[in-house]
Amino acid sequence: MLFKDLNIIKPILNSIEESGYEKPTAIQEKSIPSILDGRDILGCAQTGTGKTAAFAIPILQRIIAEKKVDNERKLKALIVAPTRELAIQIGENVTTYSKYLDIKSTVIFGGVNQSSQVRKIKSGVDVLIATPGRLIDLSNQRHVDLKNVKYFVLDEADRMLDMGMIHDVKRIISKLPKERQNLLFSATMPKEVMKLVNSILKNPVKVEVQPVSSTVDIISQGAYMVAKKNKKSLLVHLLKDESIKSVIVFSRTKHGANKIAKDLNNVGIEAAAIHGNKSQNQRQLALNNFKEGSLRVLVATDIAARGIDVDELSHVINYDLPDVPETYVHRIGRTGRAGREGVAITLCDSEELEMFRRIEKVIGKSIPVLAEEKFEIIEPVISQKTLNQIEKLTGDDKKNSKRRQYGNKNGNVRGKSQGNSNRSGKPNNGKSNSGKGNNGKPSTAKAGNTKANSGNRSRKPSSVSK
Ligand code: AMP
Repeated sequence: MLFKDLNIIKPILNSIEESGYEKPTAIQEKSIPSILDGRDILGCAQTGTGKTAAFAIPILQRIIAEKKVDNERKLKALIVAPTRELAIQIGENVTTYSKYLDIKSTVIFGGVNQSSQVRKIKSGVDVLIATPGRLIDLSNQRHVDLKNVKYFVLDEADRMLDMGMIHDVKRIISKLPKERQNLLFSATMPKEVMKLVNSILKNPVKVEVQPVSSTVDIISQGAYMVAKKNKKSLLVHLLKDESIKSVIVFSRTKHGANKIAKDLNNVGIEAAAIHGNKSQNQRQLALNNFKEGSLRVLVATDIAARGIDVDELSHVINYDLPDVPETYVHRIGRTGRAGREGVAITLCDSEELEMFRRIEKVIGKSIPVLAEEKFEIIEPVISQKTLNQIEKLTGDDKKNSKRRQYGNKNGNVRGKSQGNSNRSGKPNNGKSNSGKGNNGKPSTAKAGNTKANSGNRSRKPSSVSK
């Protein structure tokens, strides 16, 4: 099927062509005709499926059709998204698809001064993309008039719930006209989302593209079972792999994200952290650099990473496991976008094992374990000061031999793992050996004891890489 088979008008077809899309994605094929028919939609789809175009294109087309009757510029479509990054992303998409249409749109979100946003709204917009908090603020101040809204999109509804935005969302809905078309998208459908669905959607067409239980198959997944204290060294080791062109490293906490980025920069791997405590400008700068390819490693919290749309993202690394299994699906969905391959690597410590198992249950398959507990960091990141202290304690002053054992003077790390880990950092996409350690294949690395890293001189550094 081609876009033109979906009854899309010429000016939109032209902008789609300029975007380089050859044919509609599954969700676009399934949703666009129903939305053009005026039906409500319940879209069960992850990011990366092309869902933004699936709702934006038909809404724009419907607005244009009405304009022939009513030429006034009124706020007709409201798109609500959980984060500013996602809102900006949707705004960019809407601008792209409306390039050849008489349609104006703008994006509003919190954390920045409202005056320029108010100015844009006052100048007249047909489509408003908003995060819930700022929308309520501006609506309460009567800068936003919702009484003409005919198209309402709630994107990433499950994420809004996770972020405690449900009350804001309900307040927004209560301000909308009763007669409207509703489109609700969510990667997962927990009970609370279903309640919302039942209260706002009328006889919706259900469009399911990627059920939660089947993580995007083109993404190769793998996990390292590693002691918490060794995660940093393992991450540095993994990032030495040049096949990792661009990677988001996920941290559960803002503090953790800062620390990971700092540690990486300390060993010469340029990285930037984005999270809610960073200013909008800092976040945008890091994101732009990342998208342009001048920044290879972005460390992000789950919330900050929402809406990051980087087609070429080759890898996702879960430095920590998320708090809820569904978030894993969101995380790995950052890679493998628009049909491209992607790799998702998870670093799991013993305290996270239970969550690891829960994730496997949710995605309906095992995640191959690339190396277990015995992952041996042969040359861990260790400061010269610590090295000197170890030398003092052990009474050993043969610096060169230590350097080989504890790390070279640049703090570089080389490691080998037991199991089927490979230097490409690309896990197997095949059968899992989860819970069984390696796949039985002999590896070049020796099974080690991580204690060797902390100055246990009784162990022979038998597997030091030269
Ligand atoms: P989304 O799921 O809306 O975040 O979209 C994921 C990515 O797919 C974005 O980079 C879009 O630009 C891209 N995309 C959307 N529709 C298509 C299409 N029909 N063909 C190829 N790429 C697309």
